[in-house]
Amino acid sequence: MKAWEKNVRKVTPYTPGDQPNRPRMVKLNTNENPYPPAPGVAKALEAFETDCLRLYPDPKSSILVDALAEYCHVKPEQVFVGVGSDDVLALAFMTFFNSDRPVLFPDITYSFYPVWAEEFRIPFETPALDEEFRIRKEDYYRENGGVIFPNPNAPTSLALGRSDVEDIIRHNPDSVVIVDEAYVDFGAESALGLVDRYENLLVVQTFSKSRSMAGMRIGFAVGSPLLIRYLNDVKYSFNSYTMNQLTLRLGVEAVRDEAYFRSTVDKIVKTREEAKRILGEMGFCFPESCSNFLFITHPRYRAKELYEALKKEDIYVRHFSAARIDNYLRVTIGTDDEMAVLYDFLRRYAKRQNT
Ligand code: PMP
Repeated sequence: MKAWEKNVRKVTPYTPGDQPNRPRMVKLNTNENPYPPAPGVAKALEAFETDCLRLYPDPKSSILVDALAEYCHVKPEQVFVGVGSDDVLALAFMTFFNSDRPVLFPDITYSFYPVWAEEFRIPFETPALDEEFRIRKEDYYRENGGVIFPNPNAPTSLALGRSDVEDIIRHNPDSVVIVDEAYVDFGAESALGLVDRYENLLVVQTFSKSRSMAGMRIGFAVGSPLLIRYLNDVKYSFNSYTMNQLTLRLGVEAVRDEAYFRSTVDKIVKTREEAKRILGEMGFCFPESCSNFLFITHPRYRAKELYEALKKEDIYVRHFSAARIDNYLRVTIGTDDEMAVLYDFLRRYAKRQNT
C-alpha cells in the first residue's frame, strides 16, 4: 500500500441491483413501478423552459416541500427533500447517529444501512429477525445510539402494525428513531400521523416506488421542526443545491395527482394478490407482503439456480447471498403481462425439474 493510501477513507460499497437495459427484458429486480409517472409529469416536462437552468435552484426546494407538507398534513418546516431516499437516509445517519452507543437495525434489512454506518464510523448492532422474519420490537427496548428499520421491511416484505411501531418509538425517547417507509403505500400503516407526538421520530418516504419516479431521484423525510432543522444544517454544510429545477417541478406534479397515485398502487396490489395465489399454487412460500414485491422460496429449487435460469430468459429478479436469505428471491410486482411471462417460465422450469 502506498503511503497516501493509508489516509484514504476505505469503504465496502453498497451493491445496487443490476440495471440491465435489454429490449424485451422483464425487469423485476429493483422494485421499480411498472407504470409511468402521473400524466401531469409528462406535461410539465414538455412545458419546462430550459432558460431557468441558468439559475441555481431554490436551496429550500420550497415548491416541493410545500406540496409534500400539504399532502402529509404537516407544516413545511417539518419536511425535508433529497435526491432519493438514499440521500435523505445517508444525511439522517450522518446527522442523528452520532453516539458511542450502537445504532440498532435488523440483521436482515436494507443492505445500505451497514454501509452508511461503516462509512460514517457509527457503531451498530443488528438484532435478529425471528424465525418468520418478523422484527421483534422488544429487541429495540434498550440503550442505543439510534434506531432505524424499514416498514415494510426489505427484502422480507413484512410490516409492523402502527401500534408496534409506536411501541418502539415510545421506548426510545432518548434516540432518534427513523422509520424508512419506502414501500408503505402498498399496504402498511404509515407512522406519519405520529410525528407531531414524538419529536424524535423521522419518517422517510420515496417517489421511486409508488410514484413511479425512481429515475428522477426524489425522497423526503417528515419529522418535528427541530429534527428537520438539524437535517438541513448538515445538508447545507455539505451541498446546498441537491434538488435541481426540473426535479422540483416534476415532483410537485407527482404529488398533486392523488387519483393517479391511488389507481397505480391499487393495480399493483391487485397483481400482487394474484401473484400470491399463482406462486402459492406452484409451491412457492413467502412472507405476507405489504409491499410491491414478494420474497419467495421453493422447497425443491435452489434460489441461485432459479435466478440464473430466469436471467438467461431476460427475466431479472434479485438474489441476495446473505445468510438465512440465500435461498430466497425477491420478485418485484410488474404489470400483469410481465408477471405472465414469469409464470410461464416457472411452469416450464417446474416441468424441467420433474424430468
Ligand atoms: N429504503 C429501502 C428499504 C429501499 O429498499 C430503497 C430502495 N433501494 C430505498 C430506501 C432507497 O430508495 P430511493 O433512493 O430510490 O428513494
